[in-house]
Amino acid sequence: MSDPQGNRISELIDAVRRPLEFASRNGFANILAIKGLESHITRICGIASANDPPDCIAEKFRELNAAFKGFDAMALSEKRLRVENALSIVGSICLNPSPLAEKSVPENDGKNLKLLKSPLLNIAGIGQRLFERLEKKGLSTVEDALYFLPIRYEDRRNLKDIKHLTPGADGLLLVRVIATGEVRYGGRKVFEVIAGDETGIVKLKWFNYRISYMKDRFKVNASLKAFGPVTLFNGQKEMVHPDIEEFDESDLSGVEGYKGIVPVYSQIDNMRQRTIRRMIRGIVEKYAGHFVCGSPEATRRELNIMDAGTAFLNIHIPDSLAAIERAKRALSFDELFVLELGLAIKKARIKAGHGPCFDLSRAKRTGLADRLKKVLPFSLTAAQERVLKEIKADFASRHPMMRLVQGDVGSGKTIVSLIASLWAIEAGFQVAVMAPTEILAEQHYLLIHGYAEKLGLKAVLLTGGLARGERQRALDEIRTGGVDIAIGTHALIQKDVEFNRNALAIIDEQHRFGVEQRAELKKKGADFIPHMLIMTATPIPRTLSMTVYGDLDVSIIDELPPGRTPVRTFAFKERERERDRAYGTIAKEVASGAQAYIVYPLVEESEEISLKDATRAKEHLQKGVFSDFAIGLLHGRLKPLEKEEVMRDFKARKTQILVCTTVVEVGIDVPNATVMLIEHADRFGLSQLHQLRGRVGRGERPSCCFLMAPWKASDDAFRRLKVMQETEDGFKIAEEDLKIRGPGDFIGTRQAGLPDFRSMGAMTDYALLKDARQAAFNYLEANPGLNGDGPASIKEVLRHRWHGRLELAEIG
Ligand code: ADP
Ligand code: MG
Repeated sequence: MSDPQGNRISELIDAVRRPLEFASRNGFANILAIKGLESHITRICGIASANDPPDCIAEKFRELNAAFKGFDAMALSEKRLRVENALSIVGSICLNPSPLAEKSVPENDGKNLKLLKSPLLNIAGIGQRLFERLEKKGLSTVEDALYFLPIRYEDRRNLKDIKHLTPGADGLLLVRVIATGEVRYGGRKVFEVIAGDETGIVKLKWFNYRISYMKDRFKVNASLKAFGPVTLFNGQKEMVHPDIEEFDESDLSGVEGYKGIVPVYSQIDNMRQRTIRRMIRGIVEKYAGHFVCGSPEATRRELNIMDAGTAFLNIHIPDSLAAIERAKRALSFDELFVLELGLAIKKARIKAGHGPCFDLSRAKRTGLADRLKKVLPFSLTAAQERVLKEIKADFASRHPMMRLVQGDVGSGKTIVSLIASLWAIEAGFQVAVMAPTEILAEQHYLLIHGYAEKLGLKAVLLTGGLARGERQRALDEIRTGGVDIAIGTHALIQKDVEFNRNALAIIDEQHRFGVEQRAELKKKGADFIPHMLIMTATPIPRTLSMTVYGDLDVSIIDELPPGRTPVRTFAFKERERERDRAYGTIAKEVASGAQAYIVYPLVEESEEISLKDATRAKEHLQKGVFSDFAIGLLHGRLKPLEKEEVMRDFKARKTQILVCTTVVEVGIDVPNATVMLIEHADRFGLSQLHQLRGRVGRGERPSCCFLMAPWKASDDAFRRLKVMQETEDGFKIAEEDLKIRGPGDFIGTRQAGLPDFRSMGAMTDYALLKDARQAAFNYLEANPGLNGDGPASIKEVLRHRWHGRLELAEIG
């Protein structure tokens, strides 16, 4: 909180709450131990009112003060009531730091959002002790409880009589315990419960248990519910390790309710399912109707989506399986709409800025791009041309471009970015090219520098390896405008680099370019925000390009230059025969003039170990199978200049085999390399393997890639590797990767500055996501300030869910 008054008040609230909470512990026994509560509360309330808080808060302190008049002299039971009451008053004080929220939200909606954010304490019978347990589970507010979605359901409409149980199928029984005890079968102890209903007898069995616990748990004559697969043993129906739940006949829902579809929740502390269920049910019945949807009603009506409040009812207290499905969909939609609306706002904000003005009619240098095309040894693919057209349209718009170019490895993104750079230079501006590693920056430099010289342009490379004097000279030239293209790593925009008139920033192979860096760029620029072109060879699954990258425009180079031969891929578990085969192929290829990579993974993020692996391997191979060849070693610990030297030697074919860690993952372009052997391939993500594999198959010779997994690699891991063998389609591989790892891991929503998803399946339902995106973008267009016919609460919900990651102050 930023305002000092709010801070002060919250300190005062704490000063009241702490002793009250202490007093409430041990079933309020602590009341006896606490002295001077009355004078303490009176004092704090005095300070509070002297602070002149807002009326609603002042009122609460007056109530508190009144509750403690004469407290010290009261009987214990009365004291207890007062403390309880006071705690609920304290819990209901709502500090709302945002004047915006107060003003822009109509009375009703504002109250609802506040309700959702209010703590569970003292609601639906939740006292301090329970509240602490809930908080540990992440359930602090009413909203948290609503979003505590069942992990599964038990369809108890099929409650069976024992007589009708089918061996081999799941059964759900309501039975009474007849006898319990420990039985020995051979050497093995088994705990058995004999139970029955009107139609027969069933045996429930456990093999691993604590006897004292079991005896305590299963009492003769108790009613219980057992769920699990039914087996037949010596003609007797049995369930082994069934799910058990005590059945309390006084349970409000009664047997009929028991037969419904019952939600099963993730465990909270040691609470029983029935208790959890009853508690959540109480909260949902009371508060679901107050939930504030993030989407306007008209939108939901059009798409036939139920409102989120109703959805909570249907999810927690379901009437049918179909209703559950519809409700889940509604919750996902609600979140997706809010997400997409936020992205729409971000995007609109970028678009509203001033971009550099590329007025070519006043250009000093013209025809650079055309001249480049003439000297290129190839002509552009249709996909490259199309993407260039999209970039040109952005340049013409006078608003800053934010474009992500996706193209599989080897699709030719570099040339596209170079042509875009030339357009900027023609218009009299400078260009910054950023690569994630020094090796890549160097490689870009070599390529760009070659063409730049032919066109009479000046390119510089800014890396850590530059001598001081050289660096200073380069910086001076960038500042005075003598340099047309500056190439480097991220440091290029973060440190002491000052551009004269940078209008285009090209970011290669960067997953995400954050808001802060964007701001940096603006600082370096002039009175405009530079255009930004982000290039990635990591194919982005459709769902992610609508979420994590949802505020960018996306171009796709979906075509490889002609003449490429597919990389034959072999995934195998290590055996001598297979290793010999891989080594044999490497030897054969290298002997005939080609080159090879042997890649080692980073072991648990520790460069150290992989370094040892790679270093040891290099020595071993050099002395052994590959003693006839020159082997280079490349890893992250080398100094930039050393790396450069290793790469230069490999490019110049001074070394034939490059043993390396994943530093070769992106962008390295050595068309003469035709074989890659990846050790411990099971430790890589699929997309990463795809990137690595992309280092071969860049020339005319057929290439191949061996994915070596240790013989003890799990079947799952090995099956994933097989995906690599089956396809070279980067998008398919990325979708597969996403399925295996989940979106959170692929790229964390938090890391990307997006709201967290609370409903399941939000990121995986492509069609729903598409609808939500469309609806949100339409909505913003129709209501640019979000002040349209929809509830004003939408603005509030956005703020609430985006947690300040969206500066709403800038809209409307
Ligand atoms: P990536 O998209 O992975 O960055 P690069 O830009 O490194 O790919 O291009 C890979 C290789 O393809 C380079 O050697 C480049 O010169 C070549 N290339 C790019 N475009 C074409 C094209 N249209 N026709 C033939 N070769 C091309
Ligand atoms: Mg590249």
